[in-house]
Amino acid sequence: ASSPVTLDTTATSYPRDHVKIENPKDTPYFLDNEFHASKTDKFIDLHDPATNNLVTRVPEMTVPELEAAVASAKRAFPGWRDTSVIARQRIMFNFVGLIKEHWDRLAAVITLEQGKTVADAKGDVLRGLQVAEAACAGPEYMKGEILEVAREMETRSYREPLGVVAAICPFNFPAMIPLWCIPIAVITGNTVVLKPSERDPGAAMVLAELAQKAGFPAGVINVVHGAHQTVNFLLDSPDIKAISFVGSNKAGEYIFAKGSAAGKRVQANLGAKNHALVMPDADKEATLDAIISAAFGAAGQRCMALSVVVWVGETKDWLAELAERSKKVQVNGGFEDGADLGPVVTPQSKKRIEELIASGEKDGAKIVLDGRGYKPSNYPDGNWVGPTIISEAKPTMECYKEEIFGPVLVCLTVDTLDEGIELINGNDYGNGTAIFTTSGGAAERFRRNIEAGQVGINVPIPVPLPMFSFTGNKKSVAGGGASTFYGRPGVNFYTQQKTVTAKWSSAQVAGKKNTLAMPT
Ligand code: NAD
Repeated sequence: ASSPVTLDTTATSYPRDHVKIENPKDTPYFLDNEFHASKTDKFIDLHDPATNNLVTRVPEMTVPELEAAVASAKRAFPGWRDTSVIARQRIMFNFVGLIKEHWDRLAAVITLEQGKTVADAKGDVLRGLQVAEAACAGPEYMKGEILEVAREMETRSYREPLGVVAAICPFNFPAMIPLWCIPIAVITGNTVVLKPSERDPGAAMVLAELAQKAGFPAGVINVVHGAHQTVNFLLDSPDIKAISFVGSNKAGEYIFAKGSAAGKRVQANLGAKNHALVMPDADKEATLDAIISAAFGAAGQRCMALSVVVWVGETKDWLAELAERSKKVQVNGGFEDGADLGPVVTPQSKKRIEELIASGEKDGAKIVLDGRGYKPSNYPDGNWVGPTIISEAKPTMECYKEEIFGPVLVCLTVDTLDEGIELINGNDYGNGTAIFTTSGGAAERFRRNIEAGQVGINVPIPVPLPMFSFTGNKKSVAGGGASTFYGRPGVNFYTQQKTVTAKWSSAQVAGKKNTLAMPT
């Protein structure tokens, strides 16, 4: 066992096994470019998912503290709005540079608090970094339009920031999701109050420190903590003009309804059940590799995890080989070399996953590979679930209908491509899907007829890079997905349009009678 350490967000790595933190420090909040200790008496314990050792306590902030955070963002807004977009861009370039410089540190704190492997945590940071890089194109995104609409008259459009906006984030991408929000919100001139997940706020705290170093003025980015009560405070605050939410349907549908009813803009990305459809002409080796990495990577705790396979025709015979290969996946502490996936986030999450596996068994599906009870030898107390494959599932079964959010792959069979499309479209969720085929015709038919918002053709996790936008559909987004994250739609979400129609000549046209009717 390694020697005990104190959690230090300046650390770039931690002892690999049995990380034991003596006298863990409470997570501070970030206001006016400084870290503060909350005066609350209510804390949420945060445990390392690989050991269940206490890492930190996350405060449920008091109402006066939350009020101070919103007031700080409100105070900062006029100055930040009036800072030129070129000056904001310069600070964003600094922020991008600092995230790159502190990449390992960010990854280490993600692995410690969330459990995913260091390699995967680096990817978490990269996906967010790319949004910040794309946000450096803010001046281009902010350009308006102009048209001479009549003689001596023109209409111009401007994109203006909304004011104070809030971001409420999930546990599964502790760096990426805060970075889906912060860069786009601030490059467009808004100020932000961000609430990271109470299960892993460490990466957001490092990002706050880097934002301060990058040169964002005090109050432009504030970070608050808590759970439901903090979220309710943000929803009720009249000074918050927009809410960005990513997380479960239960929370997101509530937040969307309540935020919208209060007249706020709300964008909300929710749960998922992403299907792979495997055609008999697919490249077998590449397809099985892709399914294994997308089903079990990050312990299945990705909103774009490929959690269902639909075998078309004889591809159902590939199941045995899929199971054999899945047995080779290394489940271990996220800091361990060679770990392919780490633990799931909490003991409650492990219990829920195991219950859903058991429900499949009870409903008549077959457990082809059972990850229940697995434990790596160095980590007897972690929240472990090994790769699990449930076959012969039916669309009516709970294990198929529910988002499991663990390393569990559910398999169904159909006879034709069209039956597969019908089955996938019958699912309530519409985040992502992927077809594996060497036929252009099959891929095109699938692309055209499938309802999911992100489609992969031989690509298991087809999340678009930030020059596009994250385009989930159906129950995977609230409000019909009218406002999507990052890219040009993200800029539209965080800005309101103003149009100005101007006439520069006051000369009257000789002999023209003044009329009160609308010009025709
Ligand atoms: P969660 O809904 O439990 O938590 C998300 C945030 O909402 C947290 O900050 C939490 O404090 C808050 N919250 C939770 N319950 C609340 C309630 N009842 N009232 C008010 N606030 C509440 O989600 P999670 O478990 O952290 O994240 C996993 C979920 O997020 C999965 O469903 C996953 O599919 C989804 N997700 C979706 C996307 C996407 O883009 N579609 C991306 C990542 C994660």
